[in-house]
Amino acid sequence: MDDDKKNDGYKGSSNRFDFKSNVLQLTLLTEMFDSFSEAVVVANIDRKIIYMNDTFAELFGYQKQELYGQQTKILYANEVDFSEQGNKRFNINAKSTPDSYRVSYQRKGGAQFLGVTSGTTMRNASGEVVGYIAFIRSARSAEQSLDTLQHIHNITSNVGLTYDQRVQDLLQVGLNHFGFEIAIISHITGSDYVVESCVDINSELKPATCFDISGTYCVHTLKANKTLGFHFTGKSEIKNHPCYQNFKLESYIGTPIKVDGKLYGTVNFSSHFPTEPFCKDDYTLMGILADTLSFIIYKKISEQELLLLATTDELTGLLNRRATLERLDEQMLMSKRVNYSLCIISIDIDHFKQINDMWGHAAGDKALVEFSRIMSTLGRKTDFCGRIGGEEFIFVMPGSDETGAIHIANSLREKLQENNIKLNEEDAVKLTFSAGLAVYENKESVETLLMRADQAMYQAKKQGRDQVCLAEIIEK
Ligand code: GH3
Ligand code: MG
Ligand code: MG
Repeated sequence: MDDDKKNDGYKGSSNRFDFKSNVLQLTLLTEMFDSFSEAVVVANIDRKIIYMNDTFAELFGYQKQELYGQQTKILYANEVDFSEQGNKRFNINAKSTPDSYRVSYQRKGGAQFLGVTSGTTMRNASGEVVGYIAFIRSARSAEQSLDTLQHIHNITSNVGLTYDQRVQDLLQVGLNHFGFEIAIISHITGSDYVVESCVDINSELKPATCFDISGTYCVHTLKANKTLGFHFTGKSEIKNHPCYQNFKLESYIGTPIKVDGKLYGTVNFSSHFPTEPFCKDDYTLMGILADTLSFIIYKKISEQELLLLATTDELTGLLNRRATLERLDEQMLMSKRVNYSLCIISIDIDHFKQINDMWGHAAGDKALVEFSRIMSTLGRKTDFCGRIGGEEFIFVMPGSDETGAIHIANSLREKLQENNIKLNEEDAVKLTFSAGLAVYENKESVETLLMRADQAMYQAKKQGRDQVCLAEIIEK
């Protein structure tokens, strides 16, 4: 044996592994597996590497010395796979029938690849488990594609995932499939290419970044209107493209995403390194991925539209009664928790019936829309207003005290004085309102808070309208 070979052995093994009393001998393994074209690795019962052949070190991109004594965890792309294989195969109670399985491994430097592994336990003469052995080869294209498809299926059928988790997981699956560094879902409007979701192994790219579409490879994908890939841009016809000049992305594959028949954006994967030419399976997978994303984006948009419909007042665009009360309830809880004040103003437009009577219902509607628009320009970002009924509104001010709330009510009065509200081509009116202001008292319910504010509002009506009254304090 030459010097190199002698140094190959794992020196720290003696306290974990008693070679004398066991059949497993490093020299024996060396003779058996060193010339294997398949990667072979042996670990002791602590799952620490004690032997590997040259093919194994090459496959994982390490020098052998870097791996001896390391737990096999270092080889897995996902720690959960390491634990899972430990539970299934690499434990002292496991049966020693080798079977093959696919799992994502990680090379030195982080690049991932799918490996097909046969692994089993190794026993001594008394039948005790003394170590584990695994034979690994990178998955062939069909196996890789099947594995990716299975992952896509697992993600789409997992009802427990949120939209964001699902999108992130799908992007990660694509990255693993191609072994690339950057995954993007873009949303394209006009010439704006906005990064809607992304995974960047180097953490450089952030969501919401906007590029001009002409500066991205996706401009070609959109022009082709199908999946397009460049596996070695520097040697391709688009090597003068600004995206190559600016970011030196050597490989790229991207597909348009259409939602409800219209272009939404693209899904694309790229890397600073050239890759193998893309195969037919890769193009098919990109199509499946784009269709899957199209479906979940469509579902999200539909849900958002439904939610908006369910919470918005159709005429004024303000929150409707139910949504206003729900948000008020949330804010009351929050204010109790963090102990800040909260005020509400119950607002009722004065003599509104007269507008309908004199100019008709459509004019009345216009007045309500304009009143709502003016009201929603007031207050802080956290304030909100909703339409509770016909010409009745609530203005909610989390974090404001009585003085702040009176200021808002006065601003609304001033704005209404300054602005004539147009009812039709010829006619315009000035609106006034009566209001009741209540400061939230700890422990009271939404109902009592609203009731106090309403009573104060009726008081304002009684006292001659166009004014704000303070609500009674709850008697102790
Ligand atoms: P007050 O000062 O006492 O509040 O007098 P008011 O006329 O405003 O009060 P009242 O409750 O008598 O009338 C409210 C009117 O608001 C009656 C109803 O026709 C009108 N109204 C309610 N909802 C709408 C709507 O969506 N569009 C229009 N145009 N009018 C509405
Ligand atoms: Mg009313
Ligand atoms: Mg009224």
